[in-house]
Amino acid sequence: MTELTCIVCPVGCRIRVDRAENGLKISGNDCPRGLTYAREEMTAPKRILTAVVEVAGGESMLPVKTKEAIAKAKIWLAMQETKAITVSGPVTVGQVIKDNVAGSGVPLVATGMIPGDA
Ligand code: SF4
Repeated sequence: MTELTCIVCPVGCRIRVDRAENGLKISGNDCPRGLTYAREEMTAPKRILTAVVEVAGGESMLPVKTKEAIAKAKIWLAMQETKAITVSGPVTVGQVIKDNVAGSGVPLVATGMIPGDA
């Protein structure tokens, strides 16, 4: 038996997962999204990476995140790739900073902005 806290919404349901002969038996979720979350967490867990990248010539950092959750197993490589990035302005919110981060097929996007003269 495994207990998970669903992180899909702020309710945070406690979900119980038992291994059954015909797969996983999942209970405690208040909605179908929790069922999907629990199945994914038990088979192929994913996370959104949030980080900052260096801004060229400045002392500030630009906040970034993966546009979607990526495989948890790729987070370390994604962090290493993110650490090597230096950006120059202008950058707008949602702009792709790096395509296909860690070979995940998901882009890294800006969650902040840099004015044009930075
Ligand atoms: S199971 Fe549904 S209601 Fe419960 S925390 Fe997850 S998303 Fe929210």
